[in-house]
Amino acid sequence: MIEEAAKIIAHSRFLIAFTGAGVSAESGIPTFRGRGGLWENYRIEEVATPEAFRRDPNLVWAFYKMRMKIMKDAKPNNAHLVLAELEKMGILRAVITQNIDNLHKEAGNQHIVELHGNIHRVKCTRCDYMENLLESGKLEDFLKEKNLPKCPECASLLRPDVVWFGEPLPQEALQKAFKLAEGADVCLVIGTSAQVFPAAYVPYIVKDNGGSVIEVNTKESGITPIVDVFLRGKAGEVMQSLLVKVKRCLENKKC
Ligand code: NAD
Ligand code: ZN
Repeated sequence: MIEEAAKIIAHSRFLIAFTGAGVSAESGIPTFRGRGGLWENYRIEEVATPEAFRRDPNLVWAFYKMRMKIMKDAKPNNAHLVLAELEKMGILRAVITQNIDNLHKEAGNQHIVELHGNIHRVKCTRCDYMENLLESGKLEDFLKEKNLPKCPECASLLRPDVVWFGEPLPQEALQKAFKLAEGADVCLVIGTSAQVFPAAYVPYIVKDNGGSVIEVNTKESGITPIVDVFLRGKAGEVMQSLLVKVKRCLENKKC
């Protein structure tokens, strides 16, 4: 199967990757549905909604600060690094991610579409103010602060710039993702349960246009029934072996 996947990738005209929480599991970031999803007696779904934030912003901010700490310390794993290398090789055209952890960027990919926001960014609940705390160097102080974060422009409450359950996706990012999917002939789907729509339409678009879909996952997902090749295993390990085979395939033109 891995040879077949390598062949499809090596012969691709426009390869995209579509990633989910599983691509970052080996970096120590818990996935959504994997481990019960409980935190302080709440399901993640119940602390990641606009209603939860209105009801108890302190609880939601405590939850997000905990995630910010985990994600700030996490390092890209082999799956992220292989995707960065495939982009440098001119094979991978873009990574469309549902993740908010910034690890594709840290790994070195340049063409990234973030469908669900970014954990290091905050935005005002009232005005247009937005800040990337990692880039502005304020992340550490922000995490230490005990009071609720307020907008420096209008003093309203700040919130994480991530997409919560029940909220629409950022339209620009979604359109960009769909456009990339329409132009792609191969989609590499890594570590996603492919249950969160509209994000999960991405591989279906590629398939509907006659393209191929390759999936890397430790177990079957919502997309598995339509994939051309399913590679079972941990993303970091599978992607590393896949890269070796793709390189071999490119060197030996006969594959
Ligand atoms: P999910 O938790 O629903 O599914 C994770 C998938 O990864 C599962 O199919 C699982 O079998 C697979 N998986 C687990 N470990 C793996 C590994 N080592 N290698 C390969 N596959 C592995 O995640 P999802 O589909 O991304 O769910 C969508 C939502 O979860 C998004 O809205 C996203 O914002 C959010 N989320 C993001 C992060 C992050 O940024 N790292 C973490 C948790 C949740
Ligand atoms: Zn404001």
